[in-house]
Formats: sequence, structure tokens, C-alpha cells
Amino acid sequence: MGLPPFRNEPYLDWNDQENVKRVRAALEKVGGELGRSYPLIIGGKEVETEGEIVSVNPARPQQVVGRVARATEREASLALDAATRAFADWSRTAPEARARILLRAAAIMRRRKAEMIAWEIYEGGKPWPEADAQVSEAIDFLEYYAREMLRLKEGAEVHSVAGEESRYFYQPMGVGVIIAPWNFPTAILTGMSSAAIVTGNTIVMKPSEFTSVIGAKVAEIFFEAGLPEGVLNFCAGYGSEIGDYLVSDPRTRFISFTGSMRTGLRINELAAKPNGQKWIKRVIAEMGGKDAMIIDDSADLEAASSDIVRSAYGYAGQKCSAASRAIVHADVYDEVLRRVVEKARALRVGAPDGPEVFVGPLISEPQFEKVSGYIEVGREEGERVLGEDPGDPKDGYFVTPTVYAGVDPKARIAQEEIFGPVLAFIKARDFEDALAIANDSPYGLTGGLYSNDREHLERARHEFHVGNLYFNRHITGALVGVQPFGGFGLSGTDSKAGGPDYLQQHMLPKTVVERF
Ligand code: NAP
Repeated sequence: MGLPPFRNEPYLDWNDQENVKRVRAALEKVGGELGRSYPLIIGGKEVETEGEIVSVNPARPQQVVGRVARATEREASLALDAATRAFADWSRTAPEARARILLRAAAIMRRRKAEMIAWEIYEGGKPWPEADAQVSEAIDFLEYYAREMLRLKEGAEVHSVAGEESRYFYQPMGVGVIIAPWNFPTAILTGMSSAAIVTGNTIVMKPSEFTSVIGAKVAEIFFEAGLPEGVLNFCAGYGSEIGDYLVSDPRTRFISFTGSMRTGLRINELAAKPNGQKWIKRVIAEMGGKDAMIIDDSADLEAASSDIVRSAYGYAGQKCSAASRAIVHADVYDEVLRRVVEKARALRVGAPDGPEVFVGPLISEPQFEKVSGYIEVGREEGERVLGEDPGDPKDGYFVTPTVYAGVDPKARIAQEEIFGPVLAFIKARDFEDALAIANDSPYGLTGGLYSNDREHLERARHEFHVGNLYFNRHITGALVGVQPFGGFGLSGTDSKAGGPDYLQQHMLPKTVVERF
């Protein structure tokens, strides 16, 4: 297939009023569609359920974004059946044909970009640039994995001995259960699903309960792109009701999960238990983080402060890659703290009604309560130099940018993932100390170092134990094909979404040798 080389989808320019107008028009149109109901789609058929998920706008919790059918174990079983049936044909479909469906889905998503951005704003509470980045990333995954499949379809070269032919190639695995989080509801759901599908597997797709409408929209785009019945089964539901069932079922061949450490570890444990299946289930898990930025005494303090703020408060800190620890050399600590507080105070907080809002709401009431709890914990563990007590969640799940200074590296707010706009400032004696503090975490997702000291940069390159390490820049917003993404330690199974090794995890490498 003669495709142009992969190129990241460009972001919208918000200085261009045409873009602003287009998104406003989409918000109005989608606004007229709020409150609709969405069925499950199993084996190509719409399936209604008794229960439903009521999804609300986190900036205005009274506003119902949509009502989505809520699968029980019964529907989960139907979905596994449909996926099992569809596997025989789909796994034998030519890789090029599978890739074309991804390319078509990318084209549809590009055409529907403003609409998808609008859904992200309503259901995800996303600021406009974040919503745009989300949809662009989803398009990138589709374009990138389509090309990756074409690269991998012949397998890899191995040596043959004289008189024999050795072949090494990849086969699809079987039925995959895709379990996604709410924080990148378009991109991560699209990415995990498309990787599983293009490699010839069939899937049961479970979006987060908080972003199930976006899940329904993503599924709709795959169907519109021509995916045959049963290859993707849209199975919205509560993780607490159907998660264990889907993971443990013997029809499940692999689980692709993105979410919290707690859920990821549970999935890993359940998947490992034999339950009548004839395989060891594979788990691809992307989990949480407690990401640190180190600022040493040689750093450009102005740039470092701006990038700490961007990394800590983008999407209200609800990114697995978000900076939640600033580990700063004692000699520049006061200055960096002063600048960060000043910049964070200036951020626009509120409902994402225009492109200028930087910090929107948290996703849900439970998340609001959790972050509020950590703000209380922080009072005992540091000095709050920025931030207010959270208001009434009935008015939207807003928490303002918060900085705690003088935090001990062992404090809870320096060790546990908060997943909100809360940053812990930690003072380090020197670079050695800073690196030790940064690595003293069960997680290992992203990290950053601001430094002009070559020796420090080279040491960090090898000794800062994270999957995604960034020097002299912000640590969020990984680009597909440019910054393959995934963490070490308890941040996941060491895989890299959007990278050259990702698709192989969804396939079985096979060796066939023929003697002539
Ligand atoms: P979560 O609570 O773990 O939920 C993730 C998904 O798992 C949801 O679809 C959830 O369903 C489902 N689930 C819940 N219990 C389950 C069970 N027993 N079995 C199977 N599935 C179950 O995480 P979240 O709050 O949605 O997402 C935030 C977390 O994701 C953070 O920790 C963040 O760091 C992490 N994250 C990591 C990455 C990465 O690439 N490493 C990227 C994004 C986010 P319900 O929604 O119905 O509960």
C-alpha cells in the first residue's frame, strides 16, 4: 500500500477565529443531542439493558450528557461469544484490509473532529486545547497502527540453514478485553482498540463509566468505517459489575487495560488464575504515576517554572503523566517556588466554555472527594502556598491549582497518586539527593529534569527510572510515534503505546521451518 509517511495530526490554532467558530457550532449541535440513550452493540446488534449509566457534565453536574446501556454479566457473556465467533474470519482477513479500516476510521474522525471535541468538552470536562489534542491523538493512533501492521505483516527476518526455509511471523491471539479510563476517553480507547483489531483480534470494548457516551461515539466510528459484526463489541458497564467477569472468563485471551494501579494489579492477578482456558492470558496494563520534575541549580528557572505549571495543571492534573512532585535544588528552591506560584495563580479556572480556560473540572464527584481528601492531608504535610478549599460539588467538580511547599519525600502527598491539580514541592540538597527522591516511588511513568549540566543529564538518562523521561521541557502530552508512552515499576507492564514494539504484544510470534 502506497501510503504517505506517518505524520502527527496538527493541533488547531485557537487564534484562528474560524476554529473557534467551528467548535462553538459543534458545541451547539452536540448540545442539542445531550441526554440521548445509547445501547450496547453486540455482534452488530443493538442490545438494551435494564440498568443504565447516567453520564453527566462534570462542569455542570445537573446536565445529563447521555444514558448508556449498562451491561451485566449476561451481556458481557454475549459480547465474549460474539467476539469468539467473529475471530475465525477476522483473524484470516488480510492485514491490508484491516489496516484500511483504521485509515477510514481516522478519516471519519478527522471529518468529525469538531464534534468529537465537543463531546470531550461536555463529558470529559476538557479544556478546548486538551480536547483537540485528544482527538488528534486518536487519529494518530489509527494512522500509526495501520502503518505498523503493514510493516509487521510479513513477520521478521530470521536465518535459514542450508536446505531449509525458516519463517518467523505474527498471528492474531484471540478475544481481547479492552478496558479504558476516563481521562483520555477518545485517544486511549481508540488506541487500545485499534491496536487489538488491526492485529487480527476481536474485542469486547469497555469504556469508563464516566465517559461511556464518548465510548459509544468511538465504537460508532469504527462501525462506520466498516468493521464487520462482532469484531468490536461495545459493552459499557461498571467495572465493579462486569470487570472481574470479563477478565476471568476462559474465552478471554488477553486484556488491554489503562487505569489505576489498584485495578491493574487486580486484573493481573485474576488473569493469572487458570479458569479452564488453554493459555496464559496476556495483560497489557498502563497504570498510574507519581511523576517528578527535578530542577537543578544550573537550570533555566523561568522555563522550568513554566513547564512545571503546564505539566502539573494541564487537564487539572488528571493525566497519568502529570507532574505531581517538583524536586528542586536547595539553592534555587525559593525562586522556582515563587515563579510557579505566580504562574499557577494566573491560570484560568472554570467551565471549559472557551479556548482560554486552562483548568477545568475534575471528572466526577468521587474524584472530587478523593482530591479534596488529599488537600486535607496536605495541610498536615506541607505549607499550602497556593490553592483554596474546594467548593460545593453541586456547582461543578472544581479544584483550583494547589501547591504545597516543604513536603517531605515520604509524605503521602509525595508518594500517592492524587490525580488532581495538587503539586508537592520538595527541597533537595543536591542533584544526587534529587535523583534518589525522584526514584523513591512505586511508580515509574514519566519524569523530567531541568538542567544545563551535561553530567547530570547523562546520569539521569540512565538512572532516572521512568518509562518516559524528558529533559528541559514539559513532561506531558506524549505524541504517537514520537514519544512512545508507558511506564516502569507499578506504572504498568513496561509497554509503549504509540511505539514500534506495541502491536507485537497483541500477536503470537510463530516459527515455521520447512526442510526441502
Ligand atoms: P480505574 O478506576 O482503574 O478504571 C479504569 C477502568 O477499569 C475503567 O473502565 C473501570 O470501570 C475499570 N474497572 C474498574 N474496576 C474494574 C475491575 N475490577 N476489573 C476490570 N476493570 C475494572 O482508573 P480511572 O480512574 O478510570 O483512570 C485513572 C487512572 O488511570 C490513573 O491512575 C491514571 O494514572 C491511569 N492512567 C494511566 C495511563 C498510562 O498510560 N499509564 C493513561 C491514562 C490513565 P469503571 O469506570 O466502571 O469503574
